[in-house]
Amino acid sequence: MSATHAYDCVIIGGGTAGLTAALYLLRAGKRVLVIEKQVFGGQIVSSDCIENFPTIARISGMEYADLLVQQVLDLGCDVTMEEVMEIRDTQDGFETRTDSGTYRSAGVILATGAKHRALGLPNERELVGNGVSYCAVCDGAFFRDRKVAVIGGGNTALQSALFLSDLCEQVYLVHRRAQFRAHQHTVDAVRKRDNIQLLTPYVAHCIQGGERVQGLELVDPQDATNTLRLSVDGIFVTIGQIPQNEFVQHLVRLDEQGYIAAGENCVTSHPGIYVAGDCRSKQLRQLTTAAADGAVAAMALCDYLNARNV
Ligand code: NAP
Repeated sequence: MSATHAYDCVIIGGGTAGLTAALYLLRAGKRVLVIEKQVFGGQIVSSDCIENFPTIARISGMEYADLLVQQVLDLGCDVTMEEVMEIRDTQDGFETRTDSGTYRSAGVILATGAKHRALGLPNERELVGNGVSYCAVCDGAFFRDRKVAVIGGGNTALQSALFLSDLCEQVYLVHRRAQFRAHQHTVDAVRKRDNIQLLTPYVAHCIQGGERVQGLELVDPQDATNTLRLSVDGIFVTIGQIPQNEFVQHLVRLDEQGYIAAGENCVTSHPGIYVAGDCRSKQLRQLTTAAADGAVAAMALCDYLNARNV
């Protein structure tokens, strides 16, 4: 480790990507600080049950997060709960300024994740895990042989509808416009499925149900008198994600959607800064792909540090 840096690496974001990167760096003998602003474990802590992580048949998001955090703590990781305000390139490394301190490091890994865009309906957040989901691949299996609605008109929505139609009795695809953003071949595939009904143009107006989702009320955006009530057990809100990368846009290149531009090698446009997980441009945002990114980014940073005798 450089004498001038408290840490070899500061990792911003304590979800699966960031903590996996920490695991690999610690095992390579590097000194690591993970800074998280909300909850260690990331988005997955609000997931009722994970069934698609290799070797773990079934685990709650909270249990999974606890195991992951404990694993890096046992290896001597420093962690802190702070919000990062700014990262500065100091020529011989980086300074990460938070709401309560400044940390110097030789390299940085960005693992800030992305937030699912919500509809903003009154009881939407309360029903997450009880019928409302933002990820068909994660939660679809809990709705086997049930009726569900998928909201959105992009690739994620249409692919989610296809995925769910293999499991569910009936899938309603609700989109606010008659035109879809999704690739035409995906739209064509959706249209061929007998158990997917396209409902356009409709917007979700009200989620029905107390403890669990029981239905969804739709309204035609062009004619408020035209309403529909769907009897569904699940609602998959797939209307895009919101990356939160503005604070690094002066340092690394972002893509058109605001994700950090980097390929599978997790190398950003700025030497010494790597990226891992959902905040990176990518097709599939899952625990497994976040973990993979964490390992790749960590080993790339190790090479960078070793080349500089850090
Ligand atoms: P997206 O392409 O941004 O689509 C979001 C969809 O949600 C749009 O149809 C949008 O409607 C709708 N929407 C947004 N806000 C809404 C609101 N408040 N209420 C109702 N509807 C709303 O997002 P995405 O589907 O998650 O895809 C993100 C990126 O990943 C895209 O570039 C996509 O191509 C890519 N992707 C690629 C693949 C692949 O296999 N190639 C798979 C998944 C994702 P409007 O159309 O009316 O704006």
